[in-house]
Amino acid sequence: MSEHAIEITGLRKTYASSAGEPPKDALKGIDLTIPKGSIFGLLGPNGAGKSTLINILAGLVLKTTGQVRIWGFDQDVNPRQSRASIGVMPQELNLDPFFSPRNVLEVQAGLYGVPRSQRRSDEILAMIGLTDKANAYARTLSGGMRRRLLLGKALVHHPHILVLDEPTAGVDIELRNMLWTNVRKLNEQGMTIILTTHYLEEAEQMCDEIAIINHGEVVACDTTRALLGRLDTKTMVIEPETAVPEALQMPGGIEMCPRSDGTLAFNYNRTKVSAETVLKAVHDAGIRIKDVKTVEADLEDVFLSLTSSTA
Ligand code: ADP
Ligand code: MG
Repeated sequence: MSEHAIEITGLRKTYASSAGEPPKDALKGIDLTIPKGSIFGLLGPNGAGKSTLINILAGLVLKTTGQVRIWGFDQDVNPRQSRASIGVMPQELNLDPFFSPRNVLEVQAGLYGVPRSQRRSDEILAMIGLTDKANAYARTLSGGMRRRLLLGKALVHHPHILVLDEPTAGVDIELRNMLWTNVRKLNEQGMTIILTTHYLEEAEQMCDEIAIINHGEVVACDTTRALLGRLDTKTMVIEPETAVPEALQMPGGIEMCPRSDGTLAFNYNRTKVSAETVLKAVHDAGIRIKDVKTVEADLEDVFLSLTSSTA
């Protein structure tokens, strides 16, 4: 058995031309492996191809070429097993307005051939906090409740892999926390989680590994920690005791940027210049230091440096 939850090789998707639009190469040859048991983040700007990728995994969009293996099953050779291994919470709230949460879960269980004895609608309703709405029409549910129901729906067939497409876009903090608590719990129980998010901070906190996608290509794929370590630039911010002339000569490798709040930012490459060298240069320039702090690169910096260079 493969140790990968997902193995994607040479995946391409070209959407056919329609309404005068030219054909669109949404995925241009994606290679990606996602380890079992991880929380894996797919990041990328709007239109990067994240939903296309996820919808191919879910069997909702047909790939143009390439190979997709889900839990070791080739999508083309074992479509049923690969579909059974994955549950997807989609981006859109597509629910039948006249179905109750219990109906939705039961119908989905039926579609996936889950025998009655193995259904656990009550357990899922409790987990997503909809026990007391179990028999209400979906159209009477709030947006947040519908989103929770979509999470429940993705779980009815006990998938090994749970995929969430922008689960927290536009939701309030309470629902976001509830989603993440559930996701963490499911992951601790052994479920592999794949999610897309616009919120870099969220990816930084939640994900073990991250792939950054831009224009249909993977531009980076690494552990979150390694991605953050990739940016070599560091910034030291100094609050001077007294006002400082704008144009001060700094030694090579140190760039001084005065900020509007009166502080001075010094950018340097930490592998080439030590913090001590920066402090000495500041001292030699006659600047008296009132306060000092250093700023680490965050995922946003990594993201911007990767997605702007290939634009
Ligand atoms: P993301 O989820 O990263 O925002 P998508 O996968 O939704 O990106 O879209 C990738 C590209 O494919 C975009 O340029 C989008 O306009 C295009 N696209 C998505 N779905 C379709 C479709 N059904 N027909 C034609 N083009 C599409
Ligand atoms: Mg999308």
